[in-house]
Amino acid sequence: MDVWGRSHPPFLAGAKRVTAGVLAAALLVTLTAATGAAQAAARAGTRAAPSDALGVAPPDTPGVAPFEALGDSATEARPRPRVDCRRVKCVALTFDDGPGRHTGTLLRHLAKYHARATFFVLGSNVVTYPRVLRRTVAAGHEIGNHTWSHPLLTRLPAARVRSQIARTDRAVKAAAGVMPHLVRPPYGAFNRAVRRQIARPIVMWNVDTLDWRYRNSATVARRTLRSVRPGSIVLFHDIHRTTVGAMPRVLKSLAKRGYHFVTVSELFGGRPPHVAFGAAPPKKH
Ligand SMILES: [Zn+2]
Repeated sequence: MDVWGRSHPPFLAGAKRVTAGVLAAALLVTLTAATGAAQAAARAGTRAAPSDALGVAPPDTPGVAPFEALGDSATEARPRPRVDCRRVKCVALTFDDGPGRHTGTLLRHLAKYHARATFFVLGSNVVTYPRVLRRTVAAGHEIGNHTWSHPLLTRLPAARVRSQIARTDRAVKAAAGVMPHLVRPPYGAFNRAVRRQIARPIVMWNVDTLDWRYRNSATVARRTLRSVRPGSIVLFHDIHRTTVGAMPRVLKSLAKRGYHFVTVSELFGGRPPHVAFGAAPPKKH
């Protein structure tokens, strides 16, 4: 499965501040020719994102609502505030290409910080690790659809795009009883034709840790901590042991900076835009 993560091109960073209308063209261009400039931009890690945040109703205390019910195992849903990301610093950590053999360890790290994250899973891995997916859902994390076998969707006929998504939906539903409401296309590659087959929010990212390239936990942690801003969507791959190994440091440092670790849907107050790169930072009070 490593090949999936490794082959993620960093071109996305080149597609900053694009509108949905020109996104397809931008992606196609960058797909076929990842320029040195784009790669340099990717190495810089972070991008300002178009702001499309829609908040939830403000809770009684600024930004934070009462605790939810307790879970009792290490990876079950823990007490944590519901967060209004218009008012407090939020970051959405996202993990692609799993579930895998390191996902369980990741769940323990996240639980320790009452962190929620979003997992863009491959249907072909869901059927291999159904119990891991169930634990992920039980812990309160969000599940997104990352296709069945990680193809380049822009090269597939419409019917196969649909079947890649639908087959994964069915596997997730069968394993964990939930339906993915978000889609992340493999390599972040999509165009208008692909979008027509995916009638749900497409989630990109604005911090690319390049964890598939830097197979070193310290490097991944350093790159992440350098790039995260309030409202960031951060791309990781939980199929890499080194990525999971970076998480204690990432979580500890970001928590110390006052970040709330939320799912992608939470980041947008439950209403992600059609194409999401990141959310607006909270307003100053
Ligand atoms: Zn992927």
